Amino acid sequence: MISLFPCLNDNYGFLLVEPDSGLCATIDTPDGAEIDKQLQKRGLTLTHILNTHHHFDHVGGNLFLKEKYGATIVGPKRDAARIPGIDIGLADGDILPFGAYDIQVMDTPGHTLGHCAYYVPDEASVFVGDTIFVMGCGRLFEGTPAQMFDSMAKLAALPKDTKIYCAHEYTLSNAAFAVTVEPDNQDLHRAISMAKTLRDKNQPTVPTTIGTELKTNPFMRAETAAILSNIRMDKDRF
Ligand code: ZN
Ligand code: FE
Repeated sequence: MISLFPCLNDNYGFLLVEPDSGLCATIDTPDGAEIDKQLQKRGLTLTHILNTHHHFDHVGGNLFLKEKYGATIVGPKRDAARIPGIDIGLADGDILPFGAYDIQVMDTPGHTLGHCAYYVPDEASVFVGDTIFVMGCGRLFEGTPAQMFDSMAKLAALPKDTKIYCAHEYTLSNAAFAVTVEPDNQDLHRAISMAKTLRDKNQPTVPTTIGTELKTNPFMRAETAAILSNIRMDKDRF
C-alpha cells in the first residue's frame, strides 16, 4: 500500500506499507514533522527510510525520524557520506527484502552522482526521487547528460503500467517546456489538460506511469524524429 501527501513547497512524501509484515517505509524525508503526523494519523510505526539522494529536501528529516522510531536508513552507497544516519548503502541490482516484498534497487545518477530508484514489483510502482518528473527530468546538478539519459532509459525499460512516484509537483512548468519541443504531440496536449484540471482542484499529478511518460515526456522521447528535427539535431546527431 502506498500513500502520498504534499510536503514543504512542492515535494511529495510517500509511505510504503507491506501489509503482511506491517513494515512501513518513508521514501525520503522531506519534512520529518509532517511525515510523523501522517504516520500517527494512519497508526503506523516507521521501520525504514529509503533515501533516493542526498539533497536536503530528501534527507532533512532522517535523524529526527530515526531517533523517534529507530528506523533503518538505506540509500545510495556512492553518497553514503552525504546521507545523515545511513545504515545500509545500496547499489544497482541490490534487493532490499521488505516483508513479502523484494524491493529492487536501481542506480539512476544524473541529478546527483549517487541516486537510487526503488522498484517495487508487488505494487507495480517505482520511486524515482528527482530522476524523472511528469513531462520532465531532474536538473543535472552533478551528473552528465549521458548519465541522466542512461538512467531514464533504464527506468523506461520497466513494464509500461508501472506507476512512477516522483518527488516534486513540477508538472505544469515541465509541460510549458515540453510543448515547445513537441508541439504536435496530441498525447502531450491531452496529458497537459488533464494535469491542469487536477492542479485547478489542488490534486497531485503524481503518480504517472512509464507508458504515459513514453508518450509525453520529451526526455524519454529524445530520439523521436519530431523532437530531433524541432531542436535541429536531426542532421548532426550527438
Ligand atoms: Zn534533489
Ligand atoms: Fe528534490
